[in-house]
Amino acid sequence: MNDLAECLSRTLLLMRDEVGGEVADEVLLSALTCTRVVLVADGRNIASPPAQTAFVTAATLMARSGHKVWLSAPNIRMSGPQPPLSPGRLIDELVAVGLNLIPGVEFGVGEPTDEIDLAIGLGDTPITIPARRRIWINAEAWAGILSGEDTTRPWGVHFWPMGALAAAGLAANEAFKAAMQKLLPYALDRDNTSDRFADSDSIRLRLAPVNSPFCRDLGEVDIVSGGAISNAALYCLARIPGVNGRGRVIEPEAADLSNLNRYMLLLRSGRDVSKATDLTQTLVGGGLHFRALRRRYDSSTVDEIAPFARVVLVGVDHIPTRWLVQQAWPERVVVGATTHWSAMASLHANGSGCAQCLHYEDDPAEGLIPTQACVSFWAGLISAVYLARQAVGDLPSVAERQIFLTPFRPETIYRAPVPPRADCPTCLSRGSLEVGAHSRAAS
Ligand SMILES: [Zn+2]
Repeated sequence: MNDLAECLSRTLLLMRDEVGGEVADEVLLSALTCTRVVLVADGRNIASPPAQTAFVTAATLMARSGHKVWLSAPNIRMSGPQPPLSPGRLIDELVAVGLNLIPGVEFGVGEPTDEIDLAIGLGDTPITIPARRRIWINAEAWAGILSGEDTTRPWGVHFWPMGALAAAGLAANEAFKAAMQKLLPYALDRDNTSDRFADSDSIRLRLAPVNSPFCRDLGEVDIVSGGAISNAALYCLARIPGVNGRGRVIEPEAADLSNLNRYMLLLRSGRDVSKATDLTQTLVGGGLHFRALRRRYDSSTVDEIAPFARVVLVGVDHIPTRWLVQQAWPERVVVGATTHWSAMASLHANGSGCAQCLHYEDDPAEGLIPTQACVSFWAGLISAVYLARQAVGDLPSVAERQIFLTPFRPETIYRAPVPPRADCPTCLSRGSLEVGAHSRAAS
């Protein structure tokens, strides 16, 4: 397998949900790499840090799916941290990162000459480049917006990054759909694939209530896994102005090429390096101070790793590990996860069921897990929103302790409680521990 195919191997595996196993890898790779996008922003619309966040995030999400992306924006000095980009000028640093992502998928600069699939404008930047489709993105503090030309307005948010991150996700979703639409002749169920990857024309996707407070100090957070969810969540949190936070990234493995399709803070030069070390070093220089702990969290290391911070983010696919973290009963557990085309996150705290109440049965996965840039990014973003809100005591209502969305159909986002289960082994074991503690105290 060549490096390009290896980098996109998990994306290809997920695309096979739609086209089966018979279609050659080259056909799927070509659908991704022949999807041509231009990202357009003028100086007025890209002046603020959240606007720069939207631009950088959309560009790198699309590159991680193998699309050919042109950057048409002024090469301004970035006004806030944009890891994994180094500080400096927007286009220069994006181009440098592009050379260090998927081999052969570097960014183009300026306006492409031949026709492209999708042009994405920031704010009310005019799009004058011929394109099969044109969309615009914008943001509010907690909402991402996708629209057509008739409803554009100047870039709307200048401080808080979460809505801008959602806007970038909405843009990258549409680019990936353009790639999937090229594969409709191969679809196992053409109607189904066509519906899932149909264009979205006008969306306002709300991550949290409009007046949710902003945070600066995340406190101490332990992160179990240095994988896709942890990467995306830290990527989002690192963009909070003046952010402070500390904790551990607990992860035993090294990164490989097949992680580049979705690890938002990983560059190709970080392959074969410990995921935990690479992730924590990428954040150096910002306000997030995490320590790499190169261990697997399992029953043999529980005592060594204890005690957890008050808040733990769990980004592991392995469901029994989520239970094991929960059984240490940190005050708050946030679980982020993906399954095929869907992303989810949940917050387990007083008033809600635990991580096992929600993920009640093991679902053992073997071999390479199918994943895609946008899906993993959305799971990390909604996890980051839980972490940011709880950090200022803004616990989401019990009715909104889990979020489930299929990013390519962002019109529908499902929010629900996490009901406690009477038969949950983790909750039952806690109950018996507490009874035991009380009886010891009584004697
Ligand atoms: Zn439970």
